[in-house]
Amino acid sequence: MTLNDDELDRYARHLVLREVGGAGQAKLRDSAVLIVGIGGLGAPALQYLAAAGVGKITIIDDDIVSASNLQRQTIYRTDQIGQPKVEAARNFVSMLNPHVAVTALKGRIDAQNVDSLTKNHELILDCCDNFATRFLLAAASFRAKVPLVSAAIRGFDGQLSVWHPDGHSADRPCYHCFNPVRDPETLGDDDCAATGILGPVAGVLGTLQALEAMRTLISFGPDGALIGRMLLMDMLSGRQRLVKVSRDPHCTLCGDGGTAADA
Ligand SMILES: [Zn+2]
Repeated sequence: MTLNDDELDRYARHLVLREVGGAGQAKLRDSAVLIVGIGGLGAPALQYLAAAGVGKITIIDDDIVSASNLQRQTIYRTDQIGQPKVEAARNFVSMLNPHVAVTALKGRIDAQNVDSLTKNHELILDCCDNFATRFLLAAASFRAKVPLVSAAIRGFDGQLSVWHPDGHSADRPCYHCFNPVRDPETLGDDDCAATGILGPVAGVLGTLQALEAMRTLISFGPDGALIGRMLLMDMLSGRQRLVKVSRDPHCTLCGDGGTAADA
């Protein structure tokens, strides 16, 4: 529970915050977080969670660093083009904060591994770019009762929410309540290559995921984490809105009579 001298130095600006303090910092150190996708969202999320001292971080991604990533995925360098992202990301963290243990998995989340991966973590960050993975994570987080911090980006737009359904509270919907699509294949994925993405938009949303992850782990702020609420940001106009998302009693995942295995 106690922090050593190096930790007291490193996290001094957290420790003076009443909302974090020694107990909050120790909670971060003792937490394990899973980040799915280390691209536009996952790279900044990883950067801030590692800097903040989350003790164990698992990253999973099957991609390699390419030149077109570098405009927004600022943890990678030009000389790392061609390297697996998870390896480059693990090297980044080891130089940033040696207190963080990174487990790097080169591959994809699928129906076979999703439950074993989610259950060993206090929190999941959905930083993926496709609906199939997003639905898979939503169902697994519901089954494991592990909160899911999810973001999506396109062009100048971003959205952010935390899904932590309990199957009873109208204020705690799951991702399926918000997006009741049965077949994710019918939805168009966030294809940055086709639609484009302004670099800082990815940075803002990924960083907000790190913020919500810390808020969820430590529990700070008068309204708590963004559960049952969604932040919508239009960074072309600079406008943003916070909208309420309610639980659907007939939801196929968390609703009455719904089955997690059905999803
Ligand atoms: Zn639901």
